[in-house]
Amino acid sequence: MSGFLLSLLIIAALIYWQRRQMQGSGGLFGFGKSKATLMTQDHMRATFDDVAGVDEAKEELEEIVDFLRRPEVFSRLGGKIPKGALLIGPPGTGKTLLARAIAGEADVPFFRTSGSEFVEMLVGVGASRVRDMFDQAKKNAPCIVFIDEIDAVGRSRGVGIGGGNDEREQTLNQLLVEMDGFEANEGVVVLAATNRPDVLDKALLRPGRFDRQVVVPHPDLRGREKILQIHARKVRLGRDVDLSIIARGTPGFSGADLANLVNEAALLAARVRREFVQIQDFESAKDKILMGLERRSQVMTHEDRMRIAYHEAGHAIVGMNSPQHDPIHKVTIIPRGRALGLVMSLPERDQLTMTAVQFRSKIAMAMGGRVAEELVFGKENVGSGAQSDIQQVTKIARAMVTKYGMSERLGTIDYSTEQDTFLGSMNRETQASPETRMLIDNEVRRIVDEGYQQAKEILNERRQELERLAQGLLEYETLSGEDVRKVIADEKPVSPEHTEPKVVRHPRTTKAGTSMLPKVRRQQS
Ligand code: ADP
Ligand code: MG
Ligand code: ZN
Repeated sequence: MSGFLLSLLIIAALIYWQRRQMQGSGGLFGFGKSKATLMTQDHMRATFDDVAGVDEAKEELEEIVDFLRRPEVFSRLGGKIPKGALLIGPPGTGKTLLARAIAGEADVPFFRTSGSEFVEMLVGVGASRVRDMFDQAKKNAPCIVFIDEIDAVGRSRGVGIGGGNDEREQTLNQLLVEMDGFEANEGVVVLAATNRPDVLDKALLRPGRFDRQVVVPHPDLRGREKILQIHARKVRLGRDVDLSIIARGTPGFSGADLANLVNEAALLAARVRREFVQIQDFESAKDKILMGLERRSQVMTHEDRMRIAYHEAGHAIVGMNSPQHDPIHKVTIIPRGRALGLVMSLPERDQLTMTAVQFRSKIAMAMGGRVAEELVFGKENVGSGAQSDIQQVTKIARAMVTKYGMSERLGTIDYSTEQDTFLGSMNRETQASPETRMLIDNEVRRIVDEGYQQAKEILNERRQELERLAQGLLEYETLSGEDVRKVIADEKPVSPEHTEPKVVRHPRTTKAGTSMLPKVRRQQS
């Protein structure tokens, strides 16, 4: 063999070797391949039994489990399965745990990744990673893909400094394309989690993408007790430890905080060579965690809780005493999403239309929160918690005037604002004459003011009911509709979860023990 041929061979081998090196190291040629860490299969199994205090979220996710277990049943009937669900809730409430539990219950592979891992400096990388990730998922179907912190990629496009981040936009676009691209029944379910639903791009929430939104709130009293039970399974508790009392003393704690509490208590007990974890260990652990929480300024002050309790009680009392209003289903002072508390009312049957009376009752009820705060704490001390109520009443009143012809002064004319035209939306109201616009504003103002007055009359008349319900909320945090009526009548709540406060049966003598008791006592007025 001539020297020339040999050197040619060597050069060819060298080039081949170099190419392989580059691909292997994720260099120029392999830059879009997802790293091993991008989407890892999680082998830690969890089930719904490991998650407590978020029953509504669990119920909503059951369906996805069913589908993953028996996809053929659903597709045979031609049903469309949600492709994605978005878990919304503050940090540590169990979103990741829930996603893992769905995989565990359905017994399918679980791939997890995080939004921040897509966001890289080099343009194009994020997008090709998304493509790659979905390819992998489809090969493993049925399976679950879990994208944690999706707000890192899913922020609204075109906002932010310098008109947004190109890379992130491309990644987001690719994610949308992929989610639209696979068939609903292919067996890939995409779950994502965020604590900032407000910054998410609206396109992500459109049907066929993350059309299912599941709120994962902070646990209430009973939820906290159940979560404590789950985590206390692994530790040996002393006889003086009553988890229901610890639950009472930890409002505002997330599931992760509670898991941490049990763990810290166990560590403290071990440090002093105790056989069992005792109540004083929980006390010290709680102090330690509270300090950390206060730094993160997450725990609500006593004043905040009071204000929320009266605010929600105000909504409920006004609602119950307004004509044609739906029955109250549940009242809670546990923050949920961006709401500080919640009054849920359930219509008795499906409603096709709303009457003017119902709209007015809705407005009065929405004003009930603010009015209650004014009555109890004074006009100067009202909080900003009525923001969404105010938004809601304004919207309703405006619709009554401009769309539903429910204002005599303006008659049955459609003045509504938004009108879709070929080139986008056109504002009709601003085309109305200035006089008409002023009339509309005045009418909206009058309707809202009337609702405010109605709320004020009701609450003035029923001041004692307001007091009882607010104190009941401070004590139990969540009350069912039936319990609301009981508490107002100054009776004990009936739901099984509201067993007699255990405080009575386990009197605490130590100073450390007493501080576990709720700060709020029932004040009989
Ligand atoms: P998130 O993803 O919402 O921030 P995680 O699912 O990561 O919260 O929760 C962290 C840990 O806290 C979990 O692994 C679990 O030990 C505990 N935890 C959180 N929420 C719950 C819950 N609802 N029930 C039981 N344990 C919980
Ligand atoms: Mg998480
Ligand atoms: Zn409100």
